[in-house]
Amino acid sequence: MKPFTYDALPGRVVFGAGSSRSQLGPEIDRMGVQRVLLLVSERERPGAEVLTQPFGERVVGIFSAVRPHVPIEVAEQARTMARDLQADSILAIGGGSAIGTAKAIALELNLPIIAIPTTYAGSEMTPIYGLTTMQRKQTGRSLAVLPKLVLYDPELTFSLPAHISGPSAINAIAHCVEAFYGPGANPISSLIAEEGLRALADGVPVVVAQPNDLAGRTTTLYGAYLAGAALAAAGTGLHHKICHVLGGAYNLPHADLHTVMLPQVVAFLEPAIPAIMRRMGRALRANEQTTAAALHDLAVRIGAPTALKEIGMCAEDLEPAVTRILEYVPHDPVRPINTTNIRAILDSAFLGHSPPIEVHEA
Ligand code: NAD
Repeated sequence: MKPFTYDALPGRVVFGAGSSRSQLGPEIDRMGVQRVLLLVSERERPGAEVLTQPFGERVVGIFSAVRPHVPIEVAEQARTMARDLQADSILAIGGGSAIGTAKAIALELNLPIIAIPTTYAGSEMTPIYGLTTMQRKQTGRSLAVLPKLVLYDPELTFSLPAHISGPSAINAIAHCVEAFYGPGANPISSLIAEEGLRALADGVPVVVAQPNDLAGRTTTLYGAYLAGAALAAAGTGLHHKICHVLGGAYNLPHADLHTVMLPQVVAFLEPAIPAIMRRMGRALRANEQTTAAALHDLAVRIGAPTALKEIGMCAEDLEPAVTRILEYVPHDPVRPINTTNIRAILDSAFLGHSPPIEVHEA
């Protein structure tokens, strides 16, 4: 075995159906917090108010102006509210956008976060934060933003519609996949990612077909938890970097971009790390298929987008996109990249071809 480094992250996780009703109050008592700022999107607010009713006197305010990708103005408003109310903690209920806003407050005010995720994005398990200034998103790492308590309740995900559940879960699959070869990959994060892939491969088709199936929701949320933990330990690779560039430059939807790009980037990397890809394929129950083909089939099976042209990209943007990607990612540690092979990945993704992709190196 090669030498490795693994940074175990602190944090308490409570997982189980109904736990947001039965465990949140006792957990708040256990933490000893008295002035909780509730962070939730307007859509999720009525449900969050019901959940916090048993300790309502400790909720000093509600911030619901949550927006995707945490614009700096929203972060400033939320920080001001936390300061003015002298909050001693933040309770974030929602997807990556609500949890990201809580992280923006914690980064500056060093308040503990209690996170109750309602999507499969996985931000609650990571010390990574993102802030958007003038349409440019910048990310960083700080232990101050890692939630002290994460409460996973699969019942809260029943209301996630299929068109959000599927792509959000494939976003989690992308975290597991890239954890196998990310910059911090190690045997422990690979174990976590492998178990995450198994759970997600089993759960995703169920939550899309039967949104109220508790077993499917539980398995998928468990997979999303592991995906977040694997991402926190191992970081991300070429796929996430390409998504970051395309999402930012062409305003493409975050989770849909993952469903389109993941099979294509995996198809490109697969020949460079065949043993690792076979391990992922087994976890994804790929049988005789390549891992890339199994990922493409999964997206098709759950009705998620598979082509860039379906999600708003124009053919004339492909060439400038290659330049942007190579500016942002000049090298890849897994397989050398250049104009020809990045263009081949984008062409295949544009049309939504089933992998493998054809790369004719000059
Ligand atoms: P999101 O929080 O914007 O939620 C997506 C949509 O789902 C929203 O419309 C929301 O209102 C709705 N929704 C959430 N929960 C629901 C429920 N239970 N029922 C019905 N609708 C519900 O998006 P997301 O996909 O959860 O997160 C994406 C964001 O998180 C991105 O900004 C991404 O960069 C960030 N992210 C950060 C990290 C990290 O480690 N920092 C990791 C993953 C994702």
